[in-house]
Amino acid sequence: MFYWLRNFSRASLTFAGTLISALVVWLAVSSTGNLTIRELQSTGQARLALYDSSLRAAIDRYRYLPYVVARHHQVIQAISDPQTAQIANLYLERVNNRSGAAALYVLDRTGVTVASSNWNTPDSFVGEDYSFRPYYSLALAGNEGFFFGIGVTTGRAGVFISNPIFQNGEIIGVVVVKLELDEVEMNWQEGGETVFVADADGVITLTSRGDWKYRTLSPLSDTDRTRINLNRQYPGRELTSLNVGQQLAKGSGIVTISSHRYLFDSKPIRGSDWRIFYLTSMDQVTDRQAAVMLIAIIGGGMIVLLILFLRERELKLASQREARELERIQALNTRLEEEIAERRKTEDELRGTQNELVQAGKLAALGQMSAAIAHEINQPITAIRTFCASAKLMLDRGKTDQLDQNISQISSLTERMGAITGQLKTFSRKSTGVLEPVDLKVALGNALQLLRPQLESENCSLERNEPDYPLIIRADLVRIEQICVNIIRNALDAMEDSGVKRIRIDLATDADDVTMHITDTGPGMNDETLALLFDPFFTTKDPGQGVGLGLSVTYGIVRDFGGTIKAYNTTMGGACFEVRLPLLRNSKQ
Ligand code: ADP
Repeated sequence: MFYWLRNFSRASLTFAGTLISALVVWLAVSSTGNLTIRELQSTGQARLALYDSSLRAAIDRYRYLPYVVARHHQVIQAISDPQTAQIANLYLERVNNRSGAAALYVLDRTGVTVASSNWNTPDSFVGEDYSFRPYYSLALAGNEGFFFGIGVTTGRAGVFISNPIFQNGEIIGVVVVKLELDEVEMNWQEGGETVFVADADGVITLTSRGDWKYRTLSPLSDTDRTRINLNRQYPGRELTSLNVGQQLAKGSGIVTISSHRYLFDSKPIRGSDWRIFYLTSMDQVTDRQAAVMLIAIIGGGMIVLLILFLRERELKLASQREARELERIQALNTRLEEEIAERRKTEDELRGTQNELVQAGKLAALGQMSAAIAHEINQPITAIRTFCASAKLMLDRGKTDQLDQNISQISSLTERMGAITGQLKTFSRKSTGVLEPVDLKVALGNALQLLRPQLESENCSLERNEPDYPLIIRADLVRIEQICVNIIRNALDAMEDSGVKRIRIDLATDADDVTMHITDTGPGMNDETLALLFDPFFTTKDPGQGVGLGLSVTYGIVRDFGGTIKAYNTTMGGACFEVRLPLLRNSKQ
């Protein structure tokens, strides 16, 4: 499965693995970052909405109060008749206690406090002039005043909401409720989240971060600073800037405050000119990214190591496989060598056996021929004996002149006998096994010479067709003679009962081979004989007549000389044996 790993070097695999791992790490880290940011953004939005609504709820609780109080007759009375201020003081104290506001007080048209819920405390507003406060001027103009600032009398920050007091359609004074949002702020701080509210000037009025209180988002312009001072909105506060106004202007995104990165979202607070901001530390993102990076690096490293390990294993397995293959091939070679040696031995044995068979075949032929030979030799011997007897008579009678004729006849008869025994000697001679150029015509002539007595005694005629040039093949003369003898003798045997006994021998050459066709007028061969003809010990002859070796020996000899032999029936009904042997040289040319 991993065998392709072998094709790569360790360095290239490490390099590619590291590259891919780095890519995976980068992808994992960036997608984790994006995912976490998206997650934090949606949480931030929900938290922001919650903070916004809780803050609004805290303010809106008191919004109706100045409106209602401004319509109370004791309040209206107190403005027109300062003598009744105490009644108004008590009324305001009661209502204030009930509502839970920080203070509830009434200003006359000039901005001076005529009655206040805290009339009997050291910080009493009664007699104080608040005409410099915007909530006073706003209410005097007939509007609701909304203002955040630090109390000039108490030194405590709060939201001031004001409403005009009407009498006969005319504004005669202003009712102000002051509420302190300390509790809201405390809750924010306890929540541990980062949230703040900035007013229209960008001054942070409420925040969960104590160190950001009364800091500005952007540096204040001189005009703004003068206005704020005039309003005595943040007395004693430096209003230094955090310098993040530009970053926060987008409404949401990422902001860096005091070299710390936050994800922020913001929204305007309905019913005021404030804006609330919710911040989430980017640490969460970087922490998660760091964790993912660590996991991805470890994972990537492990994958690289695994790949290297698999490669090493593959290499080891491959070398083991190669070693096994080598062993198998070596074993195969050894077996092959053994088989070759075995074959050589068998071949030697076969060759020996073949030689034996040649010899056996010769002996068998000799046995068969002996009758004919005896007959051949007996005739000259009888003739010699007769010539000797008549020669003796001639000597006795003194007719010596006729002796010479007798002696020369005896001599020619012995010559004939000598020729016969000579042939037999050649025939019984064992082959030398040495191959040399042999003229097929000569070999055939020798064989026919040997078979002549048999041919004659069988009254068999012979027809020879051959070219007038020698047919040289590379062979062993004795064995070629043997081939011819075997085929011709078989033909003679086959024609034993035939009316016409004729053997035709055709020798011819083509470009590469010399062919010899030996055709007889016998009965031919049936299918079984044709199939088994060249098998050793196949014979159709009576026991003692044949041993079935002649043609198998012939087949072996022809094959040894690089030739072929086949047999078939002729259209005339007799058998034909075709021997084809490679021509050593074309003697025609
Ligand atoms: P053997 O002569 O001892 O039988 P051979 O191997 O020489 O052994 O011949 C095998 C057989 O082939 C013979 O028995 C004979 O049946 C058949 N045969 C050989 N030559 C001829 C032929 N010319 N005509 C018909 N049959 C033949």
